[in-house]
Amino acid sequence: MRISVDVAVVGGGAAGMAAAKAAAEAGAKTLLLEREERLGGVLDQCIHPGFGLHRYREELTGPEFSYRLLSELARTSAEVLSGTTVLSVQPGPELLCANQKGLLRVQAKALVWAGGARERPFGPLLIPGTRPAGIFTAGLAQKLVNIHGLLPGRRALILGSGDIGLIMARRLHLEGVEVVGVAEIRPFPGGLLRNVAQCLEDFGIPLFLRHTVAQVHGRKRLSGVTLVEVDERGQLLPGTEKFFSVDTLVLSVGLIPELRPVEHFLVWDHSRRWPWVNSFWQTAAPWLFLAGNSLTVFDLVDTVARVGEEAGRNAARYALGDLPPVSTLPLRGGENVAVLVPQACIPGEPVSLFLRVPKPMDQAVIRVGGVYEKNHKYLRPAEMVEIKLPAEATTALAGKNEALVEVCPQ
Ligand SMILES: Cc1cc2nc3c(=O)[nH]c(=O)nc-3n(C[C@H](O)[C@H](O)[C@H](O)COP(=O)(O)OP(=O)(O)OC[C@H]3O[C@@H](n4cnc5c(N)ncnc54)[C@H](O)[C@@H]3O)c2cc1C
Repeated sequence: MRISVDVAVVGGGAAGMAAAKAAAEAGAKTLLLEREERLGGVLDQCIHPGFGLHRYREELTGPEFSYRLLSELARTSAEVLSGTTVLSVQPGPELLCANQKGLLRVQAKALVWAGGARERPFGPLLIPGTRPAGIFTAGLAQKLVNIHGLLPGRRALILGSGDIGLIMARRLHLEGVEVVGVAEIRPFPGGLLRNVAQCLEDFGIPLFLRHTVAQVHGRKRLSGVTLVEVDERGQLLPGTEKFFSVDTLVLSVGLIPELRPVEHFLVWDHSRRWPWVNSFWQTAAPWLFLAGNSLTVFDLVDTVARVGEEAGRNAARYALGDLPPVSTLPLRGGENVAVLVPQACIPGEPVSLFLRVPKPMDQAVIRVGGVYEKNHKYLRPAEMVEIKLPAEATTALAGKNEALVEVCPQ
């Protein structure tokens, strides 16, 4: 079967739904492809509140946020094909997809890739020990508890204090699992401070900073985990081992943007491992746009939806011949910039940049290419900072080879 559209959007999470909605509203014949039967992506399993404060000015749960976005999408002409996996992408773009009816080819003029992120699994952590049952990624544990009503175990330790790990510590505790603690290799928590307070401190769950798992024990089922302290370089400190008798280890050790079918079209920043996009969220292949967690892991779904809309609108403009090539100015992340998107702006046009710092900073100045400077308080790696560069600032950058974006502690 073959389908021809103006804009194909892959991924029916927040980013993809927002992109498809915006592309259809901009007049493009739009098709949204999603692997699962239901749209919503990771939102459906996030039953806690904390979503939508910016977009809807209300605190919603993940499924409520998803429902709102789905209702907005349903009011447009965008077509949805769920239960359909995109297997490969060729320039054109042409997408090879599979669903229960067989293979499908989608010919488009532009593609928004919004495939989300996958969780870093146990293997790459190189933790010694056997490979017993009872080791779960946090997202899988969340799906088991919140969607399938199944407990992963009875006594658990969480490795990694990002927001997903913190939220799962509380969730498991509320479901009757004894959570013996959360271990974090860095000297500061990876997630938002409000989540440390609301998910750990409120329930008396200990947080072991500068600790990691040295060994897992057990043959068929996990019987215990050895934690060990690390020094400032992350090296294990012998003699500091602590044994915990647990049947469950939950891993919350990072998300990896899902880009596999399109990664060979991307230009990568090798040192920082992020794909290049300009302020249209357009990659080095001009027909390919990225949105949501497949570009970089955003902290808030509100931002994911906003970037999705912008990517969808620009993809529609490209497909309809209304997005001519523009000369862009490279933006380079310098000191204390762990993440920076987009990495190019258009002189004379306002742009919003999103960055993350690698470590907590109580007071810092963010500078962009000598044309922008702003003081910030309490920068945290878990929280993205949005820098709104006005048109005058990007105009002043015209003629430069690049602009350095840096965060200078005060
Ligand atoms: C535990 C947890 C707690 C969170 N808490 C908050 C919070 O309190 N507040 C907040 O604002 N945000 C929160 N977030 C973040 C927010 O939920 C995410 O940033 C956002 O939902 C990501 O949307 P996305 O569309 O980029 O990705 P996803 O939701 O992951 O969607 C990607 C979709 O792409 C599909 N897909 C991938 N590959 C293919 C393919 N080849 N073919 C077809 N389909 C494909 C997947 O099936 C998936 O449905 C939380 C996230 C998690 C995991």
